[in-house]
Amino acid sequence: MTVRTRIAPSPTGDPHVGTAYIALFNLCFARSQGGQFILRIEDTDQARSTPESEKAIFDSLNWLGITWDEGPDVGGAYGPYRQSERSEIYQKYADELLGKGHAFRCFCSTERLQQLREEQMANKQTPGYDGHCMQLSEQVVAERMAAGEESVIRMKVPEEGVCTVWDQLRGDIQIDWQQVDMQILMKADGMPTYHLANVVDDHLMGITHVIRGEEWINSAPKHQLLYEYFGWEMPKLCHMPLLRNPDKSKLSKRKNPTSINYYRRMGFLPEAVLNYLGRMGWSMPDEQEKFTLDEMVQNFDLNRVSLGGPIFDMEKLSWLNGSWIRENLSLEQFAERVQAWALNPDYLMRIASLLKERVELFSDIVPMAAFFCSGMLNINAKAFEHKSLSEDDCKRILQFTLWRLETEQNWGRDNIEAIVKHMAETMGLKIRDYLFPLFIAIAGTSVSTSVFDSMSILGADLSRARLRHGVNALGGLSKKQSKQWEKDFRAFV
Ligand code: GLU
Repeated sequence: MTVRTRIAPSPTGDPHVGTAYIALFNLCFARSQGGQFILRIEDTDQARSTPESEKAIFDSLNWLGITWDEGPDVGGAYGPYRQSERSEIYQKYADELLGKGHAFRCFCSTERLQQLREEQMANKQTPGYDGHCMQLSEQVVAERMAAGEESVIRMKVPEEGVCTVWDQLRGDIQIDWQQVDMQILMKADGMPTYHLANVVDDHLMGITHVIRGEEWINSAPKHQLLYEYFGWEMPKLCHMPLLRNPDKSKLSKRKNPTSINYYRRMGFLPEAVLNYLGRMGWSMPDEQEKFTLDEMVQNFDLNRVSLGGPIFDMEKLSWLNGSWIRENLSLEQFAERVQAWALNPDYLMRIASLLKERVELFSDIVPMAAFFCSGMLNINAKAFEHKSLSEDDCKRILQFTLWRLETEQNWGRDNIEAIVKHMAETMGLKIRDYLFPLFIAIAGTSVSTSVFDSMSILGADLSRARLRHGVNALGGLSKKQSKQWEKDFRAFV
């Protein structure tokens, strides 16, 4: 048997370090077994998936040195590797389940489901579908469909008993069937849900081992049942421990930058980031701290993954990065890397177009452009002193801008300008005043190149991180403030 592993990211939002972490372990396991590693794009959520996000996943993984043997961009014998291009396949398998009586059509309205959910919550029951449509006769189903009624396809699930799923790191895991919902497999729009598409694709693509984050453990019973319904052999499951913030909470962008692009823009070396991710729950047999991807592959053993929540600590990563710079780069390589990072012609041209209009001497350039090549700026509350804005006003402007830009994908300068102007208007502030805290947070001074251009050039990740840093420099948000402000913010966007 040839080992085949995969990652199956959904192209929604920024490329997450968690994706790189799971990719790394899948890659190492496959390569260490002489197998193949596949990248599949799970874009069945059409409303949230974007081509930009897909491209960002490819770029950022490639930057890290993670490569795959098959995928949407490199092809392969088991394609297409984008779920949105495989719709007919899922329909066929959903029909098979309907035919075998393992699934049923459900016509319940959103209102009914909402009401059911509320009742169940009030009765302290696990929310889930109550089987209302399960008993409909074939004839009734056919009539309602012919009448054009919308429906979804749900899987049948045992009502009682315990499901046992085997996990490579945990052994047998037991989950009560009562906790498992009659999952929707096909949505009303004809698209499959994650569960159906994932199982069908893993089977058709010959995946032998599913190595993924532990947040998917609760889905395992549904998947196992689907494999049984189809009569297919299930791949071995291995759920990796989730990455955590130093305070043990789940790694999330609210507390720490989670986009791989952020680490790239901050000037981390890809080999150091990969090395650090390799140490999340895993270690070399001789406990050596520094290792390359090749060394990790050569020494890889999935059973040596430990389950204690690995802490993703920026300080430790920075230390490791420094050590890679000092010990593993020659002087020439160091200079080359720096040049490629920020002194490359592309980046220089973008900055040059802003600076040319403002400098008198070349020696003005570096001080004026330093913030384009910096990480977090050295600013404190004093920097935000202003004649008509209080500290709280500044903090509010920064936080609201951050919330607004957190999900923005179009980072073009005109778009940012339009957004910011609109925000100022809605908040009833003069644009000049609104821009002040943005200047401080982004450039460290109110006398600088246009903040829209600066943000566009710095990019989403660094700009967001600096806005957040600005909020923190102003004392951060208390829980109460955060709740109230979020409400205010929702009211006007
Ligand atoms: N599409 C899922 C994700 O975004 C894949 C989970 C899995 O590996 O099964 O993480």
